[in-house]
Amino acid sequence: MRVDCLASPRRDLPALNERNRFFWQSGEAGVLRFSQCNACGYFIHPSAPICAQCRSRDITPAEVSGRATVLTFTINRHAWQAGLEAPFVVAIVEMEEQEGLRLTTNIVNCSVEDVFIGQSVKVLFDHREDVWLPLFEPDLPSGDAK
Ligand SMILES: [Zn+2]
Repeated sequence: MRVDCLASPRRDLPALNERNRFFWQSGEAGVLRFSQCNACGYFIHPSAPICAQCRSRDITPAEVSGRATVLTFTINRHAWQAGLEAPFVVAIVEMEEQEGLRLTTNIVNCSVEDVFIGQSVKVLFDHREDVWLPLFEPDLPSGDAK
């Protein structure tokens, strides 16, 4: 039986602070942004005040493509709390901009059986209160029917 995961499961929202606010609210503009070192170009996530590569403190949020690859995933078939809709896919995706630039997220807008390691996915946002949760959906070549 195919099971569609059209909606994202409910979850606890992140607590915003000065360092992560841009990340969680970036989706308001429809883009995904990460902290980037202006000295060496390295993306830093979670955001930190010092670049792990070159120790620079010249760090600002920078927009990325939103395209990523599924590194690993699990299908959660149990509703762990009231309001949580199972099944859903919990995945770790790696952004195309940088090896190791990863997010733990959900893959949505497809059947849970359609998710695979190495899959191309793209970001979309789930707006909850004052945060825009970055989720991912299959990145189909243009022209393909969904
Ligand atoms: Zn740097």
